[in-house]
Amino acid sequence: MKTVITIFFFLLFFFKFVNATEFKGKFLQGSFIIGLTKPGSKVTIDKTDVKVSKDGYFAFGLGRDRKNNVIIKILKDQKLDIIEKKVFKKKYRIQRIDGLPKKQVTPPKEVYERIKNDNILIGKARSINSDLDFFKKKFIKPINKAIITGVYGSQRILNGKPRSPHYGLDYAANEGTPVKAMMDGVVTLAEKDLYYTGGTIIFDHGHGISTLFMHMKDVDVKKGQLIKQGDIVGTVGKTGRSTGPHLDIRLNWFDVKIDPATILNLK
Ligand SMILES: [Zn+2]
Repeated sequence: MKTVITIFFFLLFFFKFVNATEFKGKFLQGSFIIGLTKPGSKVTIDKTDVKVSKDGYFAFGLGRDRKNNVIIKILKDQKLDIIEKKVFKKKYRIQRIDGLPKKQVTPPKEVYERIKNDNILIGKARSINSDLDFFKKKFIKPINKAIITGVYGSQRILNGKPRSPHYGLDYAANEGTPVKAMMDGVVTLAEKDLYYTGGTIIFDHGHGISTLFMHMKDVDVKKGQLIKQGDIVGTVGKTGRSTGPHLDIRLNWFDVKIDPATILNLK
């Protein structure tokens, strides 16, 4: 035991002083990643300047089909560190759903304008680049004892036609089941009836990291409200385009759709 502890402290010491920047999360397609560097550093991910918290934390995500290596530039006291990381490929499931009413697969023309407006609202909420740094703490599941019925990245084939992949993590639960905030955050969108997503909430956790809950029956929060992790924010429903009651959660780094499972299982 004593040796284990000694090795642990040695490694801690080693990483603190040799590697100025550490990462939590895998360099895998769809992953959420947290970086920790020296406070006061300037950080660029690929070509995007990202915020660094007072204590040196920054966050980013890798898209579903990300192929090229990630280039992380860290500038501190005129010293530039360039870190290049290979992104590993992830295998995605193929999900076939047949017998859907045509209306559900292809929306009617008269709702195009509504869908466009919904997307603008969602896009605006996701583009917020706040100084909040809640993302650095451990996220929790939004529902107790939930069964996962859909995962991130699945290629969807609806009525035999390939459609855009599914970017959410689906939890099957009874209508009316309370839903908890996964992390402290500020509500940047709270809408009861969007066309696709129905009752929808978006939380800003800082630095462009946001979570979204959809298909909710009740939306019990308001835009601008500060929420604590574990607060009940609404209930499970089947609003919007949904085949049955479930909670679909999304995770974004600005407009990059990332796998919510990677923030829950972060190591
Ligand atoms: Zn879903």
